[in-house]
Amino acid sequence: MATNSIHWFRKGLRLHDNPALQEAVCGADTVRCVYFLDPWFSGSSNLGVNRWRFLLQCLDDLDSNLRKLNSRLFVIRGQPANVFPRLFKEWEISRLTFEYDSEPFGKERDAAIKKLAMEAGVEVVVKISHTLYNLDRIIELNGGQPPLTYKRFQTLISRMDPPEMPVETLSNTIMGCCVTPVSEDHGDKYGVPSLEELGFDIEGLPSAVWPGGETEALTRIERHLERKAWVANFERPRMNANSLLASPTGLSPYLRFGCLSCRLFYFKLTDLYRKVKKNSTPPLSLYGQLLWREFFYTAATTNPRFDKMEGNPICVRIPWDKNLEALAKWAEAKTGFPWIDAIMTQLRQEGWIHHLARHAVACFLTRGDLWISWEEGMKVFEALLLDADWSVNAGSWMWLSCSSFFQQFFHCYCPVGFGRCTDPNGDFIRRYLPILRGFPAKYIYDPWNAPDSVQAAAKCIIGVHYPKPMVNHAEASRLNIERMKQIYQQLSRYRGLGKNFTYFGTRRARVG
Ligand SMILES: Cc1cc2nc3c(=O)[nH]c(=O)nc-3n(C[C@H](O)[C@H](O)[C@H](O)COP(=O)(O)OP(=O)(O)OC[C@H]3O[C@@H](n4cnc5c(N)ncnc54)[C@H](O)[C@@H]3O)c2cc1C
Repeated sequence: MATNSIHWFRKGLRLHDNPALQEAVCGADTVRCVYFLDPWFSGSSNLGVNRWRFLLQCLDDLDSNLRKLNSRLFVIRGQPANVFPRLFKEWEISRLTFEYDSEPFGKERDAAIKKLAMEAGVEVVVKISHTLYNLDRIIELNGGQPPLTYKRFQTLISRMDPPEMPVETLSNTIMGCCVTPVSEDHGDKYGVPSLEELGFDIEGLPSAVWPGGETEALTRIERHLERKAWVANFERPRMNANSLLASPTGLSPYLRFGCLSCRLFYFKLTDLYRKVKKNSTPPLSLYGQLLWREFFYTAATTNPRFDKMEGNPICVRIPWDKNLEALAKWAEAKTGFPWIDAIMTQLRQEGWIHHLARHAVACFLTRGDLWISWEEGMKVFEALLLDADWSVNAGSWMWLSCSSFFQQFFHCYCPVGFGRCTDPNGDFIRRYLPILRGFPAKYIYDPWNAPDSVQAAAKCIIGVHYPKPMVNHAEASRLNIERMKQIYQQLSRYRGLGKNFTYFGTRRARVG
């Protein structure tokens, strides 16, 4: 009897280091690579156009790389649970393969599909390749609970075997006799849709600053590694005027969609380190950013409430204010603080902002100035960030708002001083907020302090052409720090804070 496989792409949008895809092909007569897109969902979801465009570019790239192997991508319109039973029958499928998804809702979805497959007599093969480690194993080593400090996490993984090596890229040799039946009307039935087909109005849409796809990801990883100075020094993200801009070596959206394998990244770093440091064993810190990603994945995998405050066992309950007007001002870059508004404009226009820029706007929205829940900020990031990732996004927002992992609420980012230290001339602001271009560097971070004559010369009257600051930062942050202090004092009284909440040892420099 023939072995007919389906490989189900979700994340992991790549042909390199894709063990589940290899399993689909291994010894099979036919393979069909499918991706599910629900056209209703695309029209109704709050995901921004940049995010959709990035995804469609990833799918286009995948399809064109599969064509080189005489195969194609099948983009299926519909929901996996509704469509799979029909596909199993129509294509006489005997094997279904996919990459392991560690998110709680992904696990639930996959369990349902596994059940459907078993009922249809289809064998299911699942492989871990979106993370470096088996997260369940880390949790097991920690006595059944995810580690809640990065230090503890590092201790656990130092006891584990190193991550598995990447598997070979899918090639004609690996495909062997396995073929993909492609019909004449493949493009009509299964082609990658355009943004217009998904209902987006693309008139005036600027070209993508971050092009999606595996091909771009593989070019970027090479460039990334060429920056030997970075690799040799293993610096933490340091910000200057230039690093605020989209970098041709940035990798986060590619790792998020799995156009780039984290294991490939890991082993390329290892190789490079050995070359630079003459064969010595790489320290764990080499993999810093990748391990933070892994840390948040581990913390989230058994917690379906990870992206919520209520009912989330690791999240401190903070009585945030509900203020839709203030939230909209923040999200739409109308706070009146040029540094914050420029970052939010970049996020909306391009889909990526620097790590410390994320700190600045997240602190401003939550414990710094507006006292609005981190959940609201997370949702805006979810819609606009190309690299938005359920676990990392929620974990980072909890951290920044001192809701989990981190409790140094007395360190607050100043929405004027922080930017000024980074980019004294304000070039970043001039780029994203052209209305403020005419202000001299002295006032570009606080234009409301500029004398009338300076505002007139800049052709921008504050309160008319650009908003006045929505809060008095000094007052708001002082009040909020006090509120946080009280919350943590109460917590320590009730829970023995010293023991349970001494999370990360890392300290960010106080800015502003
Ligand atoms: C409020 C807030 C929300 C965030 N939301 C996300 C998100 O949804 N998705 C996301 O990938 N990153 C998120 N980050 C982490 C971080 O800002 C980005 O990963 C980083 O800016 C990507 O920049 P890069 O392109 O230089 O990273 P690269 O150098 O390309 O980093 C490689 C990878 O390392 C991981 N990484 C880097 N920094 C961190 C970090 N601090 N924590 C966890 N993983 C990290 C990411 O997976 C990234 O893909 C968030 C940070 C904050 C403060």
